[in-house]
Amino acid sequence: MTKVVKFGGSSLASAEQFKKVKDIITAEDSRRFVVPSAPGKRFSADTKVTDMLYGCYDLAAKGKDFTKEFDAIKDRYNGIINELGLDLSLDNEFDVIKACFIGKAGRDYAASRGEFLNGIVLANYLGYNFIDAADVIYFDDRGMFDSRRTNKALTDRLEGLDNAVIPGFYGSMPNDTIKTFSRGGSDITGSIVAAAVNADLYENWTDVSGFLTCDPRIIDDPAPITTITYKELRELSYMGATVLHEDAIFPVRKAGIPINIKNTNKPEDVGTLIVESTSQKPQYTITGIAGKKGFTVINIEKDMMNAELGFGRRVLEVFEKNGVNFEHMPSGIDTMSIIVQQEAFADKEQEILAGIHRNCHPDSIDIETDLALIAVVGRAMKSNRGTAGRIFSALAHSHVNVKMIDQGSSELNIIIGVSEDDFEEANKAIYDIFVETKL
Ligand code: ASP
Repeated sequence: MTKVVKFGGSSLASAEQFKKVKDIITAEDSRRFVVPSAPGKRFSADTKVTDMLYGCYDLAAKGKDFTKEFDAIKDRYNGIINELGLDLSLDNEFDVIKACFIGKAGRDYAASRGEFLNGIVLANYLGYNFIDAADVIYFDDRGMFDSRRTNKALTDRLEGLDNAVIPGFYGSMPNDTIKTFSRGGSDITGSIVAAAVNADLYENWTDVSGFLTCDPRIIDDPAPITTITYKELRELSYMGATVLHEDAIFPVRKAGIPINIKNTNKPEDVGTLIVESTSQKPQYTITGIAGKKGFTVINIEKDMMNAELGFGRRVLEVFEKNGVNFEHMPSGIDTMSIIVQQEAFADKEQEILAGIHRNCHPDSIDIETDLALIAVVGRAMKSNRGTAGRIFSALAHSHVNVKMIDQGSSELNIIIGVSEDDFEEANKAIYDIFVETKL
């Protein structure tokens, strides 16, 4: 059995956290390949090393003095090294990094050093091999992740090794410069390594015990989600449930490897298992609820719209030309509603309205702002009758006015639009009817 284990920044923020990580890794021989993030926050007002590196590099790039900022980064690592009592000095690495900052090696290079240095410290602490991600994770000329080349390099390099630490978040370009994934990208590295070594499981260790059935800022101590499918996860993540980087799903999903989200501070918790599909019955009809505020609806009305060829295309063309992406598009016989992100729409509002008038000659256009969307997601909804009915009666009981309904044809989710003022109440009503009453 082989597991790839990725540890997030908060799991490696201090020497104390490093000790927990070592206990977890040594508890099972299968935990052979380790992907660390850079040290994260030790307390809520703390700064992540990645952000310290960006800040420091920005000063260097402007030709300003960055000694103080650089020393603060050194202190973070030296603090961990000293407290763990390691026989390790990063002085040479710091000298090289400083010279590269002065030589303006780039923001990606700067940020990547957080994971690079943490990987060296962790490998030393565990007695594991250290492999620089720049030697095994590749991007192509356009900066896109090069999966074929990476897979080959990783398999060649890891074959025959009992263990290794491979820092997350970065790789190299064909011209040997360093490139990072987007923020939180160590999750992606972990997934890539898991696929390359044909791992049985990709464990993603963080500071929460997996996904929850509802946002804990709205519901006190919501029930955890023990098993979720990739598709359900995609729906919940789109609506803001952020535990895992979205792009981390693809490499392992393709290889049929499940992901287990685990809590470094509570390793005994089962966490959430993310799988392709499962025969396991979910505990409740719904798997989870997630939502977001900040949407605008543009309602367009025109008599006989249903008979007018190309009407929808002409409307969407206007949004496309103005670079505004639409999120949903529920429609009636003579009405069509386009839901967009408020922020993106606000800048282009008048251009879009004029465009629709010119292109489509509607009878009326009406705009409603401050809309919140709530996605109720669950693979069990397909086989349970009356789910939508229960949602709407719960909302009616709580005096929440439903402004929009969109049920995907997969029957995996129902999306409901409510006024932002009703957002919390709507979440509570739906949570109560399914989870509290165990429906
Ligand atoms: N350290 C990087 C960040 O803060 C990458 C990661 O943690 O996954 O975004």
